[in-house]
Amino acid sequence: MDIQNKLFDLEGTIQPYQWGGFTYIPTLLSREVKAGQPSAEYWLGAHVQAPSIVNGEVKLDALLQQHPQLLGAAVQSKFGRLPYLLKVLDVKDMLSIQVHPTRQSAVEGYAAENAAGVALSASNRNYKDDNHKPELAFTLSEFWLLHGFREPGSLKEVLAERAELQFLLEVFEEGEYAKLYRTVMEMQDEEVGARLLPLLDRILPEYEAGRLLKSNPDFWAARAAITYNSPGRIDRGIFSIYLLNLVEMKKGQAIFQDAGVLHAYLEGQNVEIMANSDNVLRGGLTPKHVDVPELMKHVRFVPCIPQLLPATDVQPFEKAFVTPAEDFELHLLELPAKAALELHTATTDILLVMEGTLDITETGTGFKLTQSRGESVLLTAGATVKISTAGGCQAFRATVPAAAK
Ligand SMILES: [Zn+2]
Repeated sequence: MDIQNKLFDLEGTIQPYQWGGFTYIPTLLSREVKAGQPSAEYWLGAHVQAPSIVNGEVKLDALLQQHPQLLGAAVQSKFGRLPYLLKVLDVKDMLSIQVHPTRQSAVEGYAAENAAGVALSASNRNYKDDNHKPELAFTLSEFWLLHGFREPGSLKEVLAERAELQFLLEVFEEGEYAKLYRTVMEMQDEEVGARLLPLLDRILPEYEAGRLLKSNPDFWAARAAITYNSPGRIDRGIFSIYLLNLVEMKKGQAIFQDAGVLHAYLEGQNVEIMANSDNVLRGGLTPKHVDVPELMKHVRFVPCIPQLLPATDVQPFEKAFVTPAEDFELHLLELPAKAALELHTATTDILLVMEGTLDITETGTGFKLTQSRGESVLLTAGATVKISTAGGCQAFRATVPAAAK
């Protein structure tokens, strides 16, 4: 492939996970909606499991291995690969409660499992790679999630209001968050059933009758029971729905999830950018492997006040969502009709158009691509491009923060 240009068409991969919705992602990408076929995630990046395709012919991971200079010198020496993964998510059924390790503990955990001879593909494997996985989510709709432990006042109120959960008030008084979480995660299955069944028997009819609001954790506990319980097995993750902050986000807001923060996406669509990793430790609401001792090592047992991440101006029509993560930075380009801006790249950037149509022209060569909603391009290091739009547009730019440059 000719790499004289620094601007390329890019095509991502749909992941058909069971929890995904059916129409949002195919509609965004102008693809056919297939009956019964969920489209949970759309990946743009160089992850080995699903590398994006450049100019319809070359896998992005292979291209960057062959021409690492396309990453730019700083990212090439610091990471040696594309350090981020950009996704669009369509969450129909709630995802597992999870936490991600720090980079240091991922390095140690990955080495320990290798040394113990646990196969990478084994169902009880915790660490798929040696990297951390901080995440930034930007909402494309109203979005619901669980994020970090409730503050003491709010936690006690939620427990006190429900007779079936009041036994946890004493546990919290004795040993705060660590003892509380350990108690529900290490409880015998019979006791999980005995504790949660009376609660579910009470709230499920309310849920079925449409009498519960989404702002009430009972709504999500009932939905979780319908989604994840099987005969004779009640998912202990239902306890966590009451222990964690239940957050409603409006369309167009951003939140950052660092290592150690328990979280779960409940419903809605978002754009997510993360370090290029697949390290997830689960705490329930899943049929997948739950390794409680390993999980406990990574959870930060502190209360959390969920904070929306403010945007920082970069230049007219371009904003950035700055986080402590060195691996990625998400920018939002919003151009009114007839507006234009110029971009310079120091590494491999990905642009995803969310609304409208834009023209992107490489300075010097004059090479031009016209991209509309759902289409994306790759810009390699050292590109200077002009972006213009006749009717207005919105696009995301995935890049690496200045700290890496
Ligand atoms: Zn996560």
